[in-house]
Amino acid sequence: MAASLRLFGAASGLRYWSWRLRPAAGSLAAVCSRSVASKTPVGFIGLGNMGNPMAKNLMKHGYPLIIYDVFPDACKEFQDAGEQVVSSPADVAEKADRIITMLPTSINAVEAYSGANGILKKVKKGSLLIDSSTIDPAVSKELAKEVEKMGAVFMDAPVSGGVGAARSGNLTFMVGGVEDEFAAAQELLGCMGSNVVYCGAVGTGQAAKICNNMLLAISMIGTAEAMNLGIRLGLDPKLLAKILNMSSGRCWSSDTYNPVPGVMDGVPSANNYQGGFGTTLMAKDLGLAQDSATSTKSPILLGSLAHQIYRMMCAKGYSKKDFSSVFQFLREEETF
Ligand code: NAD
Repeated sequence: MAASLRLFGAASGLRYWSWRLRPAAGSLAAVCSRSVASKTPVGFIGLGNMGNPMAKNLMKHGYPLIIYDVFPDACKEFQDAGEQVVSSPADVAEKADRIITMLPTSINAVEAYSGANGILKKVKKGSLLIDSSTIDPAVSKELAKEVEKMGAVFMDAPVSGGVGAARSGNLTFMVGGVEDEFAAAQELLGCMGSNVVYCGAVGTGQAAKICNNMLLAISMIGTAEAMNLGIRLGLDPKLLAKILNMSSGRCWSSDTYNPVPGVMDGVPSANNYQGGFGTTLMAKDLGLAQDSATSTKSPILLGSLAHQIYRMMCAKGYSKKDFSSVFQFLREEETF
């Protein structure tokens, strides 16, 4: 089906057409509609904690999927649901001209794009490649250059919101890339998120994401410290959370994702810190913030400290737990 697509100049801002409906020259803008081709297959690479529910939301919106993950078990559910599973990112690119990648780190993204069986080996001209992984903005820019050489389009579109928002389709996407392509990206991202925000040139989506996660790490550590201190002072944790949430200390970590077991249901702290956003991934994002701060000569005193805390947690056995387990880490650090 993808072979029936034709790409016209990016300047029109309208990229995909069915050959059957290709209008006469001079009347392109009047007849073109992306919805003509909107339910052609979408490639999805990386079906982990986030990619799995995101891909399911695309399915709910009627998009057939071409699926790949290095971990075959991650694809099984999709195969059982009738989606097409292939054996490399290159095969995804051969079968789909819109691809979303949702991978852990910069290294994984480079492998999926530029590796021996990467997307770039078989990408079709005019394809739209959207990377929603949180990676180094400099790597996003490099990937964009490589993709552009192949006549395709790259956008970085990292997300905020966690697994819950991925399930409910309420993610926030921060999008960097050529502005003319934003509408094309929005069509897909809008199926998975309630906020899709254009940030500027390639890499600016990642920049926004890194700033957000640095603030999130700092506020999570602060919430865990405040909750622990209050408990030690004899306060009931639920009561303390209630007071914080009606006071000036309120934040997402206190009112939506409280790190103290027993305060909230349906969050990782209620489930021995399983699922959610891994401590390793938070340490990775803080490392990206650290690198960016060094290259831009920006002081990030609390961000650097948060980075060290999450690195220590990884070294002390917390790497697979959700990042709100910093509360448990603090409890175990109480030595006197
Ligand atoms: P995850 O580790 O749960 O899933 C990643 C998936 O990618 C895994 O299934 C893995 O097998 C697969 N993978 C790794 N390398 C691959 C490759 N080269 N080719 C194909 N598949 C490959 O990670 P996640 O929690 O889903 O996070 C994905 C990205 O989203 C990360 O960059 C993370 O920082 C970001 N993020 C996560 C959350 C969250 O709450 N988990 C929230 C916002 C953003």
